Amino acid sequence: MTNALKLFIVIPCYNEQDALPLTAQKLLDKMNALIENNTITSDSRIVFVDDGSKDKTWSFIAAMHKANPMFSGIRLSHNKGHQNALLAGMMTVRNDCDAVISMDADLQDDINAIDKMLAHYADGCDIVYGVRSQRTTDTAFKKNTANAFYKMMKLMGVEIIDNHADYRLMSARALEALAEYDEVNLFLRGIVPMLGFKTATVEYERGKRVAGETKYPLQKMISFALEGITSMSIKPIRLVSSLGFFIFAVSIAMLLYSLLRHFTGATIQGWTSTVVSIWAIGGLQLLAIGVIGEYIGKIYLETKHRPKYIIEEYLQ
Ligand code: UDP
Ligand code: MG
Repeated sequence: MTNALKLFIVIPCYNEQDALPLTAQKLLDKMNALIENNTITSDSRIVFVDDGSKDKTWSFIAAMHKANPMFSGIRLSHNKGHQNALLAGMMTVRNDCDAVISMDADLQDDINAIDKMLAHYADGCDIVYGVRSQRTTDTAFKKNTANAFYKMMKLMGVEIIDNHADYRLMSARALEALAEYDEVNLFLRGIVPMLGFKTATVEYERGKRVAGETKYPLQKMISFALEGITSMSIKPIRLVSSLGFFIFAVSIAMLLYSLLRHFTGATIQGWTSTVVSIWAIGGLQLLAIGVIGEYIGKIYLETKHRPKYIIEEYLQ
């Protein structure tokens, strides 16, 4: 590598007081090693974004910042979720560095993959995706739901990188492009591949959370998947329209059939089929209204142009 780059590592943290001490130490060692071998500059930073934690996360970040200028902290005024916290961090630092690597606070992402990411950056890549080589440490449930999620996203026409969460390197230029996306329902894993640029992937083994517990219970996982689909794709609407068309065609065939039955003199049976079809049509209509409502909800939020996050404090 010829020129050392100014690297910022951005880490969203929500109630991570148990994991942070270890994570901070491991990352600091890594950064120092990279400075030592001239890969990154000495004014590189580790930026923790406190996503409105209720525990001692922020006081720990502030203390680390005081003890070592390599640590920076950004504090959001309210819990806005992983994606928004990450975005807040990346957008805040994008003019101060050459590249940003985003990762989780629990060290599940192998920090040794950073070297490979930086090598790809030196090769001219603007985006380097960290991709899990295996999921041996995840529960069968997490593995299956994750696989179903990737399949579903692809089916819905969303370009998404398999087994890639939010462990990735982005150059300042790629971040600049990302900043152009002004939408409130920002689904990073779908938007980033849309940016283009030269990209690469780096494989790593995903480990266990070092401390604390997951901040992504099933409920959050489901709403994350729904967010992803409805903010990236209009296929569900198309699906409903085609279904509506199909049902309409069937009902015409049924009309012809019942007229035929009428003229051949066999009426007054068919209570069952009538009731069943009323329910079926009613259900379908409700489903369709629900899907459309989902999108209207999105439009409603977009028109408000609410800020995605508010930074309360920035320890530079
Ligand atoms: N996180 C966040 N805000 C939230 C939930 C999670 O900033 O509302 C952070 C969390 O601190 C961690 C990362 O997002 O750094 C991933 O969360 P977690 O490790 O709990 O998810 P999992 O690995 O279990 O899917
Ligand atoms: Mg985790």
